[in-house]
Amino acid sequence: MKSFLHDYSMTAPRSLGEALELLDTDGGIRIFAGGTDLMVLLESGTLQHKSFLDIHSIPELRDIRVTPNYITVGAGATFSDIAAHPDLMRELPLLHEAARSVGAIAIQNRATIGGNVANASPAADAPPALLVYDAEIELLSRQNNRRIPYRFFHAGYKKTLLVPNEMIRAFHIPRADRRKCVQLYKKVGTRKAQAISKICFAGLLRREGGRIADARIAFGSVAPVPLRCEKTEQVLKNGGTLAECLAILSSEISPIDDIRSNAAYRLRVAQNIFSRFFQVK
Ligand SMILES: Cc1cc2nc3c(=O)[nH]c(=O)nc-3n(C[C@H](O)[C@H](O)[C@H](O)COP(=O)(O)OP(=O)(O)OC[C@H]3O[C@@H](n4cnc5c(N)ncnc54)[C@H](O)[C@@H]3O)c2cc1C
Repeated sequence: MKSFLHDYSMTAPRSLGEALELLDTDGGIRIFAGGTDLMVLLESGTLQHKSFLDIHSIPELRDIRVTPNYITVGAGATFSDIAAHPDLMRELPLLHEAARSVGAIAIQNRATIGGNVANASPAADAPPALLVYDAEIELLSRQNNRRIPYRFFHAGYKKTLLVPNEMIRAFHIPRADRRKCVQLYKKVGTRKAQAISKICFAGLLRREGGRIADARIAFGSVAPVPLRCEKTEQVLKNGGTLAECLAILSSEISPIDDIRSNAAYRLRVAQNIFSRFFQVK
């Protein structure tokens, strides 16, 4: 059942410190970043919380910083911020492409990368790119600041390692010379815009002297969590044929039927995208 807007309260702290304090002391409060996932819950009458912490205007969270070893993207950076950033465009094309494929411009102007990851949908567009780039995720509470490999963050369907008084602070993406790498981002949805992925893919491949020196692939919407396909990567690096890679890939993913698509279609599309990636020279 829908409730009225005046049933809800929103607090907008002016600093990160203030936000962390509120998260720590008010157990019933929920982070509200761009609100593009939360507003859907409000509209459908399934939004359980009544009290929200608006982090959209905290400048520290929106920072995108380039240092010698890392590009750090604040959790509050919007997909428009990411898509427009020249260093990300040049150095992290998979993330740039993912940002450009989220919803449409109005959604990209509000939706944040932190919200995309915290919402923990296996169909989200940013996670495959973060997985391929071996991103680290920084989690922050008033008592603790921890930084862990992003690939460990999703603990199961819609489950993450976040604890209640913690927020995602940023993503740290190692810098590397990827100019000789083939990089492919692919999203398949019902339409080109305003469509959640039926399947999404990010892949990076580096050949050296006729052999594959590095191979990283990740899919969204083929498992309960965004999935880095490490077994398939291994077969690729060992010089496996396309048929051998496809056999492992098909056993590594576990697509399902849902309102957006069905398992058989997702399996076929995953195989097709991978074949295209395999054949790019
Ligand atoms: C019309 C429409 C189209 C869409 N299209 C796409 C699409 O193509 N691809 C796609 O991936 N998604 C899509 N989405 C979903 C949504 O836009 C994204 O998941 C978006 O990135 C969510 O970010 P947000 O800042 O709006 O999150 P919010 O709605 O503010 O929050 C989402 C969840 O994350 C939590 N949260 C937010 N920030 C943090 C933080 N820093 N730390 C801890 N928890 C946090 C919130 O408490 C909440 O549980 C679409 C949504 C709509 C309405």
